[in-house]
Amino acid sequence: MWWREPVTSLKGIGIKKALEFQKLNIETVGDLLNRFPRMDSYLDYSKVKRIGELTTDNEKQLFTGEVFRVADKYSGRGKRYTVITVQDDGSYADIFLFAAQRYQARKYKSGMRLIVIGKVRRGTTAKFVSEAFIQIADRNESINALGILPVYSLTGSLTQVAVRTAVKQALAKAEQYLPETLPASIITERQLPDRYTALKNIHFPGSFAKLAEAKKRFIFEELFLLQCGLLYYRDRIKEVRQGIKHGVDGKLVTAVKNSLPFELTEAQQKAWQEISLDMQDNKPMHRLLQGDVGSGKTVVSALALAKTVENGYQGCIMVPTEILAQQHFETLTEYLGKQGLRVELLTSSVKKAKRREILENLELGEIDVLVGTHALIQDDVVFARLALVVTDEQHRFGVDQRAKLSNKSQFAPDILVMTATPIPRTLALTIYGDLDTSMMQGKPVGRKPIETLCYTGEKRNAVYGGLVRQVQAGHQAYVVCALIDESEGVEARSATEVYTELQATYLKNIPCALLHGRLKNQEKEEIMSLFAAGEIKVLITTTVIEVGVNVPNATLMIIENADRFGLAQMHQLRGRVGRGKDQSYCVLLTDNDNKETLERLQVLRDSDNGFFLAEKDLELRGAGQLFGLRQHGLPDLYIADILQDIDVLIEARELAKKAFKNPQMLREIEDALSSQFDERFQRIFYS
Ligand code: ADP
Ligand code: MG
Repeated sequence: MWWREPVTSLKGIGIKKALEFQKLNIETVGDLLNRFPRMDSYLDYSKVKRIGELTTDNEKQLFTGEVFRVADKYSGRGKRYTVITVQDDGSYADIFLFAAQRYQARKYKSGMRLIVIGKVRRGTTAKFVSEAFIQIADRNESINALGILPVYSLTGSLTQVAVRTAVKQALAKAEQYLPETLPASIITERQLPDRYTALKNIHFPGSFAKLAEAKKRFIFEELFLLQCGLLYYRDRIKEVRQGIKHGVDGKLVTAVKNSLPFELTEAQQKAWQEISLDMQDNKPMHRLLQGDVGSGKTVVSALALAKTVENGYQGCIMVPTEILAQQHFETLTEYLGKQGLRVELLTSSVKKAKRREILENLELGEIDVLVGTHALIQDDVVFARLALVVTDEQHRFGVDQRAKLSNKSQFAPDILVMTATPIPRTLALTIYGDLDTSMMQGKPVGRKPIETLCYTGEKRNAVYGGLVRQVQAGHQAYVVCALIDESEGVEARSATEVYTELQATYLKNIPCALLHGRLKNQEKEEIMSLFAAGEIKVLITTTVIEVGVNVPNATLMIIENADRFGLAQMHQLRGRVGRGKDQSYCVLLTDNDNKETLERLQVLRDSDNGFFLAEKDLELRGAGQLFGLRQHGLPDLYIADILQDIDVLIEARELAKKAFKNPQMLREIEDALSSQFDERFQRIFYS
């Protein structure tokens, strides 16, 4: 199929250009067509003005002119800038280029015809053009015949003209043969353009109205295919297996509840009631337990695990990191072990002999509850009668991993997904489909609110001075960085760099350690246990400590380059402190002092509500950036925006559901799906 051929099969694309395309994740001709232009940047060349016709009210306008002169200048304050003067029929315009934009000026030679978009104001001798976007006009094309042109995201030496030429060639192939990806009935019903027409108009719109139609189709298509994939997954799990009906809470559950060193909070009681009722139903439970950091989800999961064991089954709980697995193992052993349950821990660092023993006993049904990491989904892990699957910090697992674990049950097991990263309703709907939700707002009593402070880099020394004082007062601290190592082109302080620097300065006589995801598990665990024991005072780290770590003596968290993190993510990080009786602090440091950045950080400073912060993140950064659907094992969306297109998402869900109930439509979709040339969706459909 032409769409699976490499981009080098197109004229004018050699190895060098192909490598540039690869950086944009474009490898095949199909990829090229699937990468839409920037939606906000189409250039309307159907309305090109002459310089004499430009209005000078600072409006963005498009015009053409010939290069007359290019001159480098100095401003009064010693800043360099470049002025390109263009002329057309005796009218002149000065285009001002500053900073990095200046370097492109070299390309423009006197006599060249340029197409310019920019804000135009009145000048003394010529019109004054700022915020310009400049292109060299193609001699062979009449400018007014260009119509509406796309603007693509570029990298390296790729130019707009090169990408456009390539896309045009690909479109010519598509015109010959392009399978449809939506069922015919849906296309008709929703009055959507066919796939080729839509592709053509998304790249080279015949008009803005056609562009809007094309966009509408692709938004729908993306969300529809996504939902189909999710339903397909769900269907496979549900169909064959029987659900399990647990009995009402009996002796064991009551004993576990009574042995807790505290009373359940109201929120915990309510969540437990919902879970308990779900488990007593024939229908398998699919419940999302959302609770802010420290709200006490683990206790609730312990009750659910006790309930399944009480009914003669096994339960398991999967978590994303070894540190967390170890911690849950200890907690659950404490809650459940006392009542005679056998709890075991399985991770990739469990020794061979022990692992064999665990696997044997698991298959014999001797083990009641298995706690572990991804190690749980390996093929040789076999349960005797698994009925409850709990996953914690779920957002780190993919759809496929979740499915693998629940497929280890001969029943359709009850599924409890726990997350401390608040997932807004809109996103939950996409990631989990029809999951029921239990919310646990608030925290167990007796916690002091964490004081959050926000500073720019000038205060860095004072902040690290504060770090030393916390340690001298007997406390511990975290310093979190966005990167492990320095990275070219990224202006952020790396953990390695900060660690080296602090060791030589503020932390000269203070035991500290560097902890990040690339260390071996054993090293990580050693560091964590030394930190927990209070022997290491300061951890310089990355987001590896985002989930679950519990060291009550840690009272200070410094987040370097805070502008690089999401609000919800920083809220998670912040939850690592404030776990003991002492006042805790979270300091957000940023070298970026623009107003928007500071305002965003202040939202975090002023709110301790994870759900609110997650919604805010969605608003400010868009869904794509926030979690990255890929983290959930789902394809990234190119054009749909889960937040903005929520109505379409809901409709797409309904139609996908309908399609799955209708054999005729299902057949159509199967065709559509198998001819879908977009690799993004492969993983959810065919894994
Ligand atoms: P989460 O998993 O939601 O982050 P945990 O289950 O780890 O929270 O609980 C956080 C801490 O709060 C634990 O130390 C736990 O013992 C304690 N805790 C949980 N529930 C209660 C409660 N009802 N009252 C007092 N402390 C509680
Ligand atoms: Mg937890």
